[in-house]
Amino acid sequence: MSHIDMRQFMCLTDNYGLIIHDSQTGATAAIDAPDADAVEAQLKKFGRQLTHIFTTHHHADHVQGNLQLKNLFGCKIIGPKAEADKIPGIDITVSGGESFMWSKREVFVHACPGHTAGHIAFSIPSEFSLFAGDTVFAMGCGRVLEGTMDQMFTSVNQFKTLSPSTYIYCGHEYTLANCRFALTLEPGNKHLQNRFHHVTAQVARGEMTCPTTLAEELKTNPYMRCDSPEIRATLGMEAATDAEVFAEIRTRKNNFK
Ligand code: ZN
Ligand code: FE
Repeated sequence: MSHIDMRQFMCLTDNYGLIIHDSQTGATAAIDAPDADAVEAQLKKFGRQLTHIFTTHHHADHVQGNLQLKNLFGCKIIGPKAEADKIPGIDITVSGGESFMWSKREVFVHACPGHTAGHIAFSIPSEFSLFAGDTVFAMGCGRVLEGTMDQMFTSVNQFKTLSPSTYIYCGHEYTLANCRFALTLEPGNKHLQNRFHHVTAQVARGEMTCPTTLAEELKTNPYMRCDSPEIRATLGMEAATDAEVFAEIRTRKNNFK
């Protein structure tokens, strides 16, 4: 029986905040700190003391709450070594490929360069959870800003080896726009059609569409489906490598309205 409780909430324009709490040990971690006031309000609401922040990457909409929360709670900040100089208040650096113990659970660190050069993700297999930051979104992936397309292809697709039951917590709510774009590549994908109706209704009700699951993404996320014959036919790239298909999809998304 798990004693971990996950509280996800929206903040800023379309950022997800997430607080994970262990009711047995009291350990409480925020995944990124987009907005200190919003994180603090959630902590207050549930009577929790922040012990850790897990930082995925250096962008302001993921780290700008760090110092305020550290001053309030004295929490420890764990983040990517390659971006340590850009992450306010960082205490512990990790790179990817290693694991650490948090509240008696093993947390794995995954290097995912692409969106930023040092971007990392965290997974807790015992909780079937992946905290993907701006690397994987529901039916999408982050913009490739500092790394290469090949790096981002590898970063996104490495998660296929996790349990399909894994919940994927993302940095942003971009689900509906991603779904619309995915349908242009794979209009015949029944899973994608069904998901479009489902997320359209969720958004209309003002609900969050995440976390998603790896199983859902494997069926609907074009960046994990570069071997799909329909996607390849749409792009006219039947003979290309998966990484080349990935790069074309990501480039088209940048220009998609
Ligand atoms: Zn970002
Ligand atoms: Fe972001």
